[in-house]
Amino acid sequence: VRIPGLESPVPTGLLIGGQWRPSSSGAVFDVLDPADGTVLAQVADGTTDDVTAAVDAAAAALPGFAATPPRKRSEMLRKAFEIMTARAEEFALLMTRENGKALPDARAELTYAAEFFRWFAEEAVRIDGDYRVAPAGGTRTVVTHQPVGVCLLVTPWNFPAAMLTRKLGPAIAAGCTSVVKPAEDTPLTALLLAQVLAEAGVPDGVVNIVPTMNAKDVVATAMADPRTRKISFTGSTEVGKILLKQAADQVLVSSMELGGNAPFLVCDDADLDAAVDGAMLAKMRNGGEACTAANRFYVQSSVAAAFSEKLAARMGAMTVGRGSDEGVTLGPLVNEETVAKVDRIVRSTVEAGARTVTGGTRPEGPGYFYPPTVLVDVPADSAAMREETFGPVAPIATFSDDAEALELANSTPFGLVAYVYTGDLARGLRLAEALESGMVGINRGVVSDPAAPFGGVKQSGLGREGGHEGIGEYLTTKYVSFPL
Ligand code: ADP
Repeated sequence: VRIPGLESPVPTGLLIGGQWRPSSSGAVFDVLDPADGTVLAQVADGTTDDVTAAVDAAAAALPGFAATPPRKRSEMLRKAFEIMTARAEEFALLMTRENGKALPDARAELTYAAEFFRWFAEEAVRIDGDYRVAPAGGTRTVVTHQPVGVCLLVTPWNFPAAMLTRKLGPAIAAGCTSVVKPAEDTPLTALLLAQVLAEAGVPDGVVNIVPTMNAKDVVATAMADPRTRKISFTGSTEVGKILLKQAADQVLVSSMELGGNAPFLVCDDADLDAAVDGAMLAKMRNGGEACTAANRFYVQSSVAAAFSEKLAARMGAMTVGRGSDEGVTLGPLVNEETVAKVDRIVRSTVEAGARTVTGGTRPEGPGYFYPPTVLVDVPADSAAMREETFGPVAPIATFSDDAEALELANSTPFGLVAYVYTGDLARGLRLAEALESGMVGINRGVVSDPAAPFGGVKQSGLGREGGHEGIGEYLTTKYVSFPL
Protein backbone atom coordinates (compact mmCIF):
# COMPACT_ATOMS: atom_id res chain seq x y z
CA VAL A 1 0.00 0.00 0.00
CA ARG A 2 1.10 3.59 -0.62
CA ILE A 3 1.28 5.58 2.60
CA PRO A 4 1.33 9.35 2.08
CA GLY A 5 4.84 10.68 2.66
CA LEU A 6 6.58 7.32 2.16
CA GLU A 7 8.75 6.76 -0.91
CA SER A 8 8.14 3.05 -1.38
CA PRO A 9 4.99 0.97 -0.90
CA VAL A 10 4.55 -0.95 2.36
CA PRO A 11 3.77 -4.69 2.08
CA THR A 12 0.32 -5.77 3.29
CA GLY A 13 0.51 -9.55 2.87
CA LEU A 14 1.63 -12.39 5.09
CA LEU A 15 5.33 -13.25 4.87
CA ILE A 16 5.80 -17.02 4.91
CA GLY A 17 8.98 -18.76 3.81
CA GLY A 18 10.15 -15.63 1.98
CA GLN A 19 6.92 -15.31 -0.03
CA TRP A 20 4.42 -12.49 0.38
CA ARG A 21 0.97 -13.96 0.14
CA PRO A 22 -2.70 -13.24 0.86
CA SER A 23 -4.55 -14.91 3.71
CA SER A 24 -5.69 -18.46 2.95
CA SER A 25 -9.22 -17.21 3.64
CA GLY A 26 -8.75 -14.21 1.34
CA ALA A 27 -9.77 -11.92 4.21
CA VAL A 28 -8.18 -8.58 5.02
CA PHE A 29 -8.56 -6.21 7.96
CA ASP A 30 -8.43 -2.43 8.26
CA VAL A 31 -5.58 -0.50 9.82
CA LEU A 32 -6.85 2.89 11.01
CA ASP A 33 -5.22 6.30 11.30
CA PRO A 34 -5.79 7.18 14.99
CA ALA A 35 -5.76 10.91 14.17
CA ASP A 36 -9.10 10.70 12.36
CA GLY A 37 -10.24 7.06 12.35
CA THR A 38 -9.94 6.72 8.55
CA VAL A 39 -8.66 3.52 6.91
CA LEU A 40 -4.94 3.70 6.24
CA ALA A 41 -4.46 0.23 4.75
CA GLN A 42 -5.93 -3.23 4.49
CA VAL A 43 -3.73 -6.07 5.63
CA ALA A 44 -4.05 -9.83 5.05
CA ASP A 45 -5.89 -11.43 7.95
CA GLY A 46 -3.88 -14.58 8.74
CA THR A 47 -5.66 -17.80 9.70
CA THR A 48 -4.67 -20.79 11.82
CA ASP A 49 -3.68 -22.58 8.56
CA ASP A 50 -1.48 -19.64 7.68
CA VAL A 51 0.30 -19.69 11.02
CA THR A 52 0.88 -23.43 10.66
CA ALA A 53 2.42 -22.74 7.25
CA ALA A 54 4.62 -20.12 8.94
CA VAL A 55 5.74 -22.65 11.56
CA ASP A 56 6.47 -25.09 8.66
CA ALA A 57 8.68 -22.45 7.05
CA ALA A 58 10.43 -21.57 10.32
CA ALA A 59 11.05 -25.24 11.14
CA ALA A 60 12.41 -25.89 7.63
CA ALA A 61 14.77 -22.92 7.84
CA LEU A 62 16.01 -23.75 11.36
CA PRO A 63 18.81 -26.30 10.78
CA GLY A 64 20.47 -24.21 8.07
CA PHE A 65 20.17 -20.98 9.98
CA ALA A 66 21.34 -22.46 13.27
CA ALA A 67 24.48 -23.63 11.43
CA THR A 68 25.17 -20.24 9.81
CA PRO A 69 28.47 -18.79 11.04
CA PRO A 70 27.84 -16.28 13.85
CA ARG A 71 29.73 -13.61 11.92
CA LYS A 72 27.25 -13.95 9.04
CA ARG A 73 24.25 -13.58 11.36
CA SER A 74 25.97 -10.62 12.94
CA GLU A 75 26.47 -8.97 9.56
CA MET A 76 22.80 -9.43 8.65
CA LEU A 77 21.81 -7.57 11.80
CA ARG A 78 24.40 -4.87 11.25
CA LYS A 79 23.11 -4.38 7.70
CA ALA A 80 19.51 -4.21 8.96
CA PHE A 81 20.61 -1.55 11.49
CA GLU A 82 22.15 0.46 8.68
CA ILE A 83 19.10 0.21 6.42
CA MET A 84 16.74 1.18 9.22
CA THR A 85 18.94 4.14 10.10
CA ALA A 86 19.09 5.26 6.47
CA ARG A 87 15.31 4.94 6.19
CA ALA A 88 14.61 6.36 9.65
CA GLU A 89 12.30 9.12 8.49
CA GLU A 90 10.18 6.70 6.48
CA PHE A 91 9.81 4.31 9.44
CA ALA A 92 9.03 7.20 11.78
CA LEU A 93 6.30 8.52 9.52
CA LEU A 94 4.79 5.05 9.12
CA MET A 95 4.68 4.56 12.90
CA THR A 96 3.09 7.98 13.34
CA ARG A 97 0.46 7.09 10.75
CA GLU A 98 -0.56 3.73 12.16
CA ASN A 99 0.05 4.32 15.87
CA GLY A 100 -0.71 8.04 16.11
CA LYS A 101 2.38 8.97 18.17
CA ALA A 102 3.98 12.37 17.61
CA LEU A 103 6.81 12.35 15.06
CA PRO A 104 9.54 13.13 17.67
CA ASP A 105 8.42 10.03 19.60
CA ALA A 106 8.41 7.97 16.40
CA ARG A 107 11.92 9.13 15.53
CA ALA A 108 13.13 8.27 19.02
CA GLU A 109 11.56 4.83 18.75
CA LEU A 110 13.19 4.17 15.41
CA THR A 111 16.65 4.98 16.80
CA TYR A 112 15.98 2.77 19.82
CA ALA A 113 14.62 -0.04 17.62
CA ALA A 114 17.57 0.01 15.22
CA GLU A 115 20.00 -0.03 18.17
CA PHE A 116 18.73 -3.48 19.15
CA PHE A 117 19.96 -4.79 15.80
CA ARG A 118 23.34 -3.13 16.29
CA TRP A 119 23.62 -4.43 19.86
CA PHE A 120 22.69 -7.99 18.93
CA ALA A 121 24.97 -7.88 15.86
CA GLU A 122 27.71 -7.44 18.47
CA GLU A 123 26.30 -10.17 20.73
CA ALA A 124 25.97 -12.76 17.94
CA VAL A 125 29.73 -13.33 17.82
CA ARG A 126 30.10 -13.56 21.61
CA ILE A 127 28.04 -16.66 22.38
CA ASP A 128 30.47 -18.48 24.60
CA GLY A 129 30.86 -21.69 26.58
CA ASP A 130 33.42 -23.10 28.96
CA TYR A 131 35.50 -26.10 29.91
CA ARG A 132 35.29 -27.43 33.46
CA VAL A 133 37.21 -29.90 35.55
CA ALA A 134 35.17 -32.17 37.84
CA PRO A 135 35.86 -31.54 41.55
CA ALA A 136 37.10 -35.13 41.90
CA GLY A 137 39.24 -34.82 38.76
CA GLY A 138 38.93 -37.24 35.88
CA THR A 139 35.78 -35.98 34.17
CA ARG A 140 35.74 -32.90 31.99
CA THR A 141 32.63 -30.93 31.03
CA VAL A 142 32.30 -28.70 27.98
CA VAL A 143 29.39 -26.27 28.28
CA THR A 144 27.95 -24.82 25.09
CA HIS A 145 24.90 -22.81 24.02
CA GLN A 146 22.58 -23.66 21.16
CA PRO A 147 19.63 -21.83 19.57
CA VAL A 148 16.40 -22.67 21.32
CA GLY A 149 14.59 -23.39 18.04
CA VAL A 150 11.41 -22.01 16.44
CA CYS A 151 10.20 -18.92 18.33
CA LEU A 152 6.77 -17.34 18.41
CA LEU A 153 7.01 -13.57 18.91
CA VAL A 154 3.85 -11.70 19.88
CA THR A 155 4.18 -7.92 20.00
CA PRO A 156 2.09 -4.90 21.08
CA TRP A 157 1.13 -1.69 19.25
CA ASN A 158 2.80 0.90 21.51
CA PHE A 159 6.33 0.49 20.09
CA PRO A 160 5.65 -1.38 16.83
CA ALA A 161 9.32 -1.39 15.76
CA ALA A 162 11.27 -1.57 19.02
CA MET A 163 9.23 -4.34 20.63
CA LEU A 164 9.92 -6.43 17.55
CA THR A 165 13.63 -5.69 17.05
CA ARG A 166 14.16 -6.39 20.74
CA LYS A 167 12.95 -9.96 20.08
CA LEU A 168 14.11 -10.50 16.49
CA GLY A 169 17.60 -9.12 17.20
CA PRO A 170 18.52 -11.79 19.76
CA ALA A 171 16.55 -14.50 17.91
CA ILE A 172 18.58 -13.92 14.73
CA ALA A 173 21.82 -13.48 16.68
CA ALA A 174 21.25 -16.81 18.42
CA GLY A 175 20.40 -18.67 15.19
CA CYS A 176 16.69 -19.14 15.87
CA THR A 177 13.87 -18.84 13.34
CA SER A 178 10.66 -16.99 14.14
CA VAL A 179 6.97 -16.58 13.54
CA VAL A 180 5.84 -13.05 14.36
CA LYS A 181 2.31 -12.05 15.30
CA PRO A 182 2.29 -8.24 15.33
CA ALA A 183 -0.46 -6.22 17.06
CA GLU A 184 -3.57 -5.77 14.91
CA ASP A 185 -3.45 -1.96 15.29
CA THR A 186 0.11 -1.64 13.94
CA PRO A 187 1.06 -4.48 11.54
CA LEU A 188 2.56 -2.24 8.83
CA THR A 189 5.76 -1.42 10.73
CA ALA A 190 6.42 -5.14 11.26
CA LEU A 191 5.84 -5.83 7.57
CA LEU A 192 8.22 -3.07 6.49
CA LEU A 193 10.78 -4.34 8.99
CA ALA A 194 10.53 -7.85 7.53
CA GLN A 195 11.24 -6.40 4.10
CA VAL A 196 14.36 -4.68 5.49
CA LEU A 197 15.58 -7.94 7.05
CA ALA A 198 15.23 -9.73 3.71
CA GLU A 199 17.20 -6.92 2.08
CA ALA A 200 19.84 -7.31 4.79
CA GLY A 201 20.33 -10.94 3.74
CA VAL A 202 18.24 -12.80 6.31
CA PRO A 203 17.33 -16.06 4.52
CA ASP A 204 13.77 -17.02 3.58
CA GLY A 205 11.81 -18.66 6.38
CA VAL A 206 13.97 -17.23 9.17
CA VAL A 207 11.44 -14.47 9.87
CA ASN A 208 7.78 -15.10 9.06
CA ILE A 209 5.04 -12.56 9.76
CA VAL A 210 1.39 -13.38 10.30
CA PRO A 211 -0.83 -10.38 11.03
CA THR A 212 -4.32 -11.40 12.11
CA MET A 213 -7.48 -10.17 13.77
CA ASN A 214 -7.82 -13.61 15.36
CA ALA A 215 -4.86 -13.39 17.77
CA LYS A 216 -6.38 -15.86 20.20
CA ASP A 217 -6.66 -18.84 17.82
CA VAL A 218 -3.66 -18.03 15.66
CA VAL A 219 -1.33 -17.73 18.66
CA ALA A 220 -2.84 -20.80 20.36
CA THR A 221 -2.34 -22.85 17.16
CA ALA A 222 1.31 -21.86 16.88
CA MET A 223 1.88 -22.54 20.59
CA ALA A 224 0.32 -25.99 20.35
CA ASP A 225 2.54 -26.92 17.39
CA PRO A 226 5.21 -29.32 18.69
CA ARG A 227 7.85 -27.65 16.51
CA THR A 228 7.50 -24.34 18.38
CA ARG A 229 9.99 -24.15 21.27
CA LYS A 230 9.61 -20.64 22.61
CA ILE A 231 7.11 -17.87 23.18
CA SER A 232 8.22 -14.29 23.69
CA PHE A 233 5.35 -11.93 24.45
CA THR A 234 5.05 -8.24 25.19
CA GLY A 235 1.61 -7.01 26.20
CA SER A 236 -0.87 -7.00 29.03
CA THR A 237 -0.50 -9.12 32.17
CA GLU A 238 -3.98 -10.47 31.49
CA VAL A 239 -2.98 -11.96 28.10
CA GLY A 240 0.46 -12.96 29.42
CA LYS A 241 -1.18 -15.20 32.01
CA ILE A 242 -3.29 -16.90 29.33
CA LEU A 243 -0.17 -17.51 27.23
CA LEU A 244 1.81 -18.88 30.20
CA LYS A 245 -0.95 -21.41 30.77
CA GLN A 246 -0.87 -22.38 27.10
CA ALA A 247 2.93 -22.55 27.22
CA ALA A 248 2.70 -25.15 29.98
CA ASP A 249 1.22 -27.72 27.58
CA GLN A 250 4.38 -27.80 25.47
CA VAL A 251 6.73 -26.59 28.23
CA LEU A 252 7.71 -23.69 26.00
CA VAL A 253 10.60 -21.47 26.99
CA SER A 254 8.72 -18.32 27.98
CA SER A 255 9.71 -14.65 28.05
CA MET A 256 7.03 -12.23 29.20
CA GLU A 257 7.17 -8.44 29.24
CA LEU A 258 3.88 -7.55 30.90
CA GLY A 259 2.14 -4.57 32.44
CA GLY A 260 3.65 -2.02 34.79
CA ASN A 261 2.45 0.49 37.34
CA ALA A 262 5.60 2.57 37.70
CA PRO A 263 5.92 4.83 40.75
CA PHE A 264 7.82 8.11 40.40
CA LEU A 265 9.22 9.31 43.74
CA VAL A 266 10.33 12.89 44.30
CA CYS A 267 12.22 13.42 47.57
CA ASP A 268 12.46 16.78 49.34
CA ASP A 269 16.19 17.05 48.52
CA ALA A 270 15.67 16.60 44.75
CA ASP A 271 16.47 19.23 42.13
CA LEU A 272 12.83 20.02 41.33
CA ASP A 273 13.45 21.30 37.82
CA ALA A 274 15.39 18.14 36.98
CA ALA A 275 12.57 16.09 38.54
CA VAL A 276 10.03 17.84 36.33
CA ASP A 277 12.20 17.23 33.24
CA GLY A 278 12.46 13.57 34.24
CA ALA A 279 8.74 13.37 34.95
CA MET A 280 7.95 14.74 31.49
CA LEU A 281 10.06 11.98 29.95
CA ALA A 282 8.85 9.22 32.25
CA LYS A 283 5.22 10.24 31.83
CA MET A 284 4.94 11.69 28.34
CA ARG A 285 7.43 9.70 26.27
CA ASN A 286 5.28 7.98 23.65
CA GLY A 287 2.23 9.88 24.91
CA GLY A 288 2.20 7.80 28.09
CA GLU A 289 1.64 4.63 26.06
CA ALA A 290 4.58 2.72 27.51
CA CYS A 291 4.78 -0.05 30.08
CA THR A 292 7.60 1.98 31.62
CA ALA A 293 5.46 5.14 31.83
CA ALA A 294 5.37 6.76 35.27
CA ASN A 295 1.86 5.78 36.33
CA ARG A 296 1.81 7.25 39.87
CA PHE A 297 3.67 10.21 41.37
CA TYR A 298 4.59 10.29 45.06
CA VAL A 299 6.10 13.59 46.14
CA GLN A 300 7.44 14.41 49.61
CA SER A 301 4.93 16.76 51.26
CA SER A 302 7.15 19.85 51.58
CA VAL A 303 7.83 20.02 47.81
CA ALA A 304 4.53 18.58 46.51
CA ALA A 305 2.80 21.87 45.70
CA ALA A 306 5.82 23.26 43.86
CA PHE A 307 6.38 20.05 41.89
CA SER A 308 2.70 19.72 40.90
CA GLU A 309 2.54 23.31 39.74
CA LYS A 310 5.67 23.00 37.59
CA LEU A 311 4.58 19.67 36.12
CA ALA A 312 1.08 20.95 35.33
CA ALA A 313 2.56 23.99 33.57
CA ARG A 314 4.77 21.79 31.38
CA MET A 315 2.04 19.24 30.65
CA GLY A 316 -0.51 21.94 29.88
CA ALA A 317 1.90 23.57 27.41
CA MET A 318 2.14 20.48 25.17
CA THR A 319 0.82 20.75 21.62
CA VAL A 320 -1.81 18.12 20.93
CA GLY A 321 -2.65 17.18 17.34
CA ARG A 322 -2.04 14.85 14.42
CA GLY A 323 1.31 13.21 15.15
CA SER A 324 2.85 14.18 11.83
CA ASP A 325 1.95 17.89 12.08
CA GLU A 326 4.77 20.34 12.69
CA GLY A 327 5.30 21.16 16.37
CA VAL A 328 2.95 18.49 17.73
CA THR A 329 4.31 16.89 20.91
CA LEU A 330 1.31 14.70 21.78
CA GLY A 331 -0.58 12.69 19.16
CA PRO A 332 -3.81 10.74 19.58
CA LEU A 333 -3.94 7.52 21.57
CA VAL A 334 -3.94 4.37 19.45
CA ASN A 335 -7.64 3.48 19.37
CA GLU A 336 -11.09 4.12 20.80
CA GLU A 337 -10.73 1.46 23.49
CA THR A 338 -7.56 3.07 24.84
CA VAL A 339 -8.92 6.61 24.96
CA ALA A 340 -12.16 5.38 26.55
CA LYS A 341 -10.12 3.61 29.24
CA VAL A 342 -8.12 6.75 30.05
CA ASP A 343 -11.34 8.77 30.21
CA ARG A 344 -12.92 6.23 32.57
CA ILE A 345 -9.87 6.17 34.87
CA VAL A 346 -9.77 9.98 35.14
CA ARG A 347 -13.51 10.29 35.81
CA SER A 348 -13.47 7.60 38.43
CA THR A 349 -10.40 9.11 40.14
CA VAL A 350 -11.98 12.58 40.24
CA GLU A 351 -15.17 11.05 41.66
CA ALA A 352 -13.00 9.42 44.34
CA GLY A 353 -11.82 12.90 45.42
CA ALA A 354 -8.87 13.88 43.21
CA ARG A 355 -8.60 17.46 41.93
CA THR A 356 -7.82 18.24 38.26
CA VAL A 357 -5.06 20.82 37.74
CA THR A 358 -4.90 20.60 33.95
CA GLY A 359 -6.69 18.54 31.28
CA GLY A 360 -9.19 15.94 32.40
CA THR A 361 -11.80 16.22 29.67
CA ARG A 362 -11.94 14.20 26.46
CA PRO A 363 -12.35 16.58 23.51
CA GLU A 364 -15.19 16.30 20.99
CA GLY A 365 -14.48 15.50 17.35
CA PRO A 366 -12.74 12.78 15.36
CA GLY A 367 -9.59 10.96 16.43
CA TYR A 368 -8.59 9.35 19.71
CA PHE A 369 -7.26 12.43 21.49
CA TYR A 370 -6.88 12.97 25.23
CA PRO A 371 -5.26 16.06 26.76
CA PRO A 372 -2.26 16.02 29.13
CA THR A 373 -3.82 15.74 32.58
CA VAL A 374 -2.49 16.35 36.08
CA LEU A 375 -4.49 15.22 39.12
CA VAL A 376 -3.56 16.08 42.73
CA ASP A 377 -4.76 14.86 46.14
CA VAL A 378 -5.23 11.47 44.51
CA PRO A 379 -6.52 8.76 46.90
CA ALA A 380 -4.34 5.67 47.21
CA ASP A 381 -7.03 3.23 46.13
CA SER A 382 -8.32 5.22 43.13
CA ALA A 383 -8.25 3.84 39.58
CA ALA A 384 -5.39 6.15 38.51
CA MET A 385 -3.13 4.70 41.22
CA ARG A 386 -4.19 1.07 40.82
CA GLU A 387 -4.62 0.59 37.06
CA GLU A 388 -2.06 1.00 34.29
CA THR A 389 -3.49 4.13 32.60
CA PHE A 390 -1.38 4.00 29.40
CA GLY A 391 -2.13 7.62 28.61
CA PRO A 392 -1.13 11.24 29.33
CA VAL A 393 -2.35 11.31 32.94
CA ALA A 394 -0.18 12.15 35.96
CA PRO A 395 -1.85 11.44 39.33
CA ILE A 396 0.05 12.94 42.28
CA ALA A 397 -0.05 11.99 45.97
CA THR A 398 2.29 12.84 48.82
CA PHE A 399 4.50 10.96 51.30
CA SER A 400 6.09 12.01 54.57
CA ASP A 401 9.19 9.79 54.83
CA ASP A 402 11.03 7.12 52.84
CA ALA A 403 9.34 4.24 54.64
CA GLU A 404 5.96 5.55 53.56
CA ALA A 405 7.21 6.19 50.03
CA LEU A 406 8.35 2.57 49.77
CA GLU A 407 5.13 1.22 51.17
CA LEU A 408 3.09 3.20 48.65
CA ALA A 409 5.41 2.40 45.73
CA ASN A 410 5.47 -1.34 46.46
CA SER A 411 1.73 -1.69 47.06
CA THR A 412 1.03 -3.17 43.63
CA PRO A 413 1.20 -6.61 42.03
CA PHE A 414 3.39 -5.08 39.29
CA GLY A 415 7.13 -4.45 39.38
CA LEU A 416 8.59 -3.26 36.10
CA VAL A 417 10.30 0.06 36.77
CA ALA A 418 10.44 2.80 39.39
CA TYR A 419 11.88 6.32 39.30
CA VAL A 420 13.52 8.20 42.18
CA TYR A 421 14.59 11.84 42.29
CA THR A 422 16.86 12.84 45.15
CA GLY A 423 19.95 14.97 45.73
CA ASP A 424 21.49 12.22 47.84
CA LEU A 425 22.83 9.27 45.88
CA ALA A 426 23.03 7.01 48.95
CA ARG A 427 19.36 7.72 49.71
CA GLY A 428 18.54 6.96 46.07
CA LEU A 429 20.42 3.67 46.20
CA ARG A 430 18.75 2.66 49.48
CA LEU A 431 15.36 3.32 47.90
CA ALA A 432 16.40 1.54 44.68
CA GLU A 433 17.40 -1.59 46.60
CA ALA A 434 14.06 -1.68 48.46
CA LEU A 435 11.81 -0.93 45.48
CA GLU A 436 10.17 -4.08 44.14
CA SER A 437 10.91 -3.61 40.45
CA GLY A 438 13.21 -4.99 37.79
CA MET A 439 14.55 -1.53 36.93
CA VAL A 440 15.05 1.74 38.79
CA GLY A 441 15.94 5.13 37.35
CA ILE A 442 17.73 7.44 39.82
CA ASN A 443 17.52 11.04 38.60
CA ARG A 444 16.61 9.71 35.15
CA GLY A 445 13.19 9.60 33.50
CA VAL A 446 14.08 6.93 30.93
CA VAL A 447 15.89 3.68 31.68
CA SER A 448 15.38 1.79 28.40
CA ASP A 449 18.67 0.90 26.74
CA PRO A 450 19.42 -1.98 24.34
CA ALA A 451 22.61 -2.69 26.32
CA ALA A 452 20.72 -3.17 29.61
CA PRO A 453 18.61 -6.14 30.78
CA PHE A 454 15.06 -4.78 30.55
CA GLY A 455 12.37 -6.63 32.49
CA GLY A 456 10.18 -6.86 35.52
CA VAL A 457 9.51 -8.75 38.74
CA LYS A 458 6.17 -9.82 40.27
CA GLN A 459 3.38 -9.78 37.67
CA SER A 460 5.36 -7.56 35.28
CA GLY A 461 7.03 -10.52 33.66
CA LEU A 462 9.62 -13.21 33.24
CA GLY A 463 13.00 -12.94 31.58
CA ARG A 464 15.04 -9.99 30.32
CA GLU A 465 15.37 -8.30 26.94
CA GLY A 466 18.52 -6.50 25.82
CA GLY A 467 21.90 -6.55 27.54
CA HIS A 468 23.89 -9.77 27.68
CA GLU A 469 20.85 -11.46 29.18
CA GLY A 470 18.74 -10.81 26.08
CA ILE A 471 20.41 -13.36 23.83
CA GLY A 472 20.36 -15.92 26.63
CA GLU A 473 16.58 -16.10 26.33
CA TYR A 474 17.05 -17.55 22.83
CA LEU A 475 19.75 -20.08 23.77
CA THR A 476 19.67 -23.35 25.64
CA THR A 477 22.58 -24.74 27.59
CA LYS A 478 24.06 -28.10 26.69
CA TYR A 479 27.06 -29.81 28.19
CA VAL A 480 29.16 -32.63 26.95
CA SER A 481 30.88 -34.73 29.58
CA PHE A 482 33.83 -37.06 29.04
CA PRO A 483 36.59 -38.83 30.96
CA LEU A 484 40.19 -37.79 30.65
P1 ADP B 1 -2.44 -4.22 24.78
O1 ADP B 1 -3.16 -3.92 26.04
O2 ADP B 1 -1.10 -3.61 24.62
O3 ADP B 1 -3.29 -4.17 23.54
P2 ADP B 1 -2.61 -7.07 24.63
O4 ADP B 1 -2.03 -7.96 25.64
O5 ADP B 1 -4.08 -7.05 24.46
O6 ADP B 1 -2.00 -5.68 25.00
O7 ADP B 1 -1.98 -7.34 23.20
C1 ADP B 1 -0.64 -7.62 22.96
C2 ADP B 1 -0.52 -8.63 21.86
O8 ADP B 1 -1.18 -9.81 22.27
C3 ADP B 1 -1.19 -8.21 20.55
O9 ADP B 1 -0.39 -8.68 19.48
C4 ADP B 1 -2.50 -8.95 20.60
O10 ADP B 1 -3.02 -9.22 19.32
C5 ADP B 1 -2.12 -10.23 21.29
N1 ADP B 1 -3.23 -10.92 21.96
C6 ADP B 1 -4.31 -10.37 22.54
N2 ADP B 1 -5.11 -11.32 23.08
C7 ADP B 1 -4.52 -12.51 22.83
C8 ADP B 1 -4.82 -13.89 23.15
N3 ADP B 1 -5.90 -14.23 23.83
N4 ADP B 1 -3.95 -14.82 22.74
C9 ADP B 1 -2.85 -14.49 22.08
N5 ADP B 1 -2.49 -13.24 21.76
C10 ADP B 1 -3.30 -12.25 22.13
